[in-house]
Amino acid sequence: MSTILYTVHPGGVYVNLKNVSREELKSGIKVYVNATNRCPCHCSFCERQIKKMDDTNSLWLKEEPTLEEILDEFKKYDLNDFLEVVFCGYGEPTNRIDDLLKVADEIKKKRPDLPIRINTIGLGNLLNNRDIVPEMAGRIDTVSISLNTPSKEEFYKITRSDFGPDSQDYIKAFALECKQYIPHVVMSVVDHVISDEEIEKCQKICDDLGVTLRVRPYEG
Ligand code: SF4
Repeated sequence: MSTILYTVHPGGVYVNLKNVSREELKSGIKVYVNATNRCPCHCSFCERQIKKMDDTNSLWLKEEPTLEEILDEFKKYDLNDFLEVVFCGYGEPTNRIDDLLKVADEIKKKRPDLPIRINTIGLGNLLNNRDIVPEMAGRIDTVSISLNTPSKEEFYKITRSDFGPDSQDYIKAFALECKQYIPHVVMSVVDHVISDEEIEKCQKICDDLGVTLRVRPYEG
């Protein structure tokens, strides 16, 4: 059974929303949307390659859900139970940017105050062969971009991006552009995966770009 909507339990355990108790829903949860497994990068540490999950919680999609299927999943829940909706999953969400923005529109119609975030590698303009950033304005509240490392060369080594050795330059340009349209622009790195010294360098990059650095805890 493919998972379209899920939440994350302590320890980084992904749980299909179908398996979340009513009590937990009522206590308020972050909901993640798993719309695609396609990605222009091939990170060695990608959870797509290293995490094992049982069938009920699998983020592997046999087929990508259609826009209607995603909207139908949302209809099963009370949006008031959600703290945030995050387009994430085992793949690059901006591969589905048109559909994701339609989902965002439907959510905002019903609950304009519900924050919506996209977690991305930041290569969405290249992937879509157009400037997608202005289209996100007023629909997406936070864009979180994986910076991974302060080094452009290391970024390419880690991600093995289809867009080549300049990929980190592209994601920095993407972050700068997002600042013009999106209220919160974050770049993220993972604690323990890079050194404290590298984190300091990432902080400097983010300060220069005028965006927030988020150091995510390593979940093993
Ligand atoms: S960018 Fe994200 S989804 Fe894509 S390969 Fe890297 S870790 Fe996996």
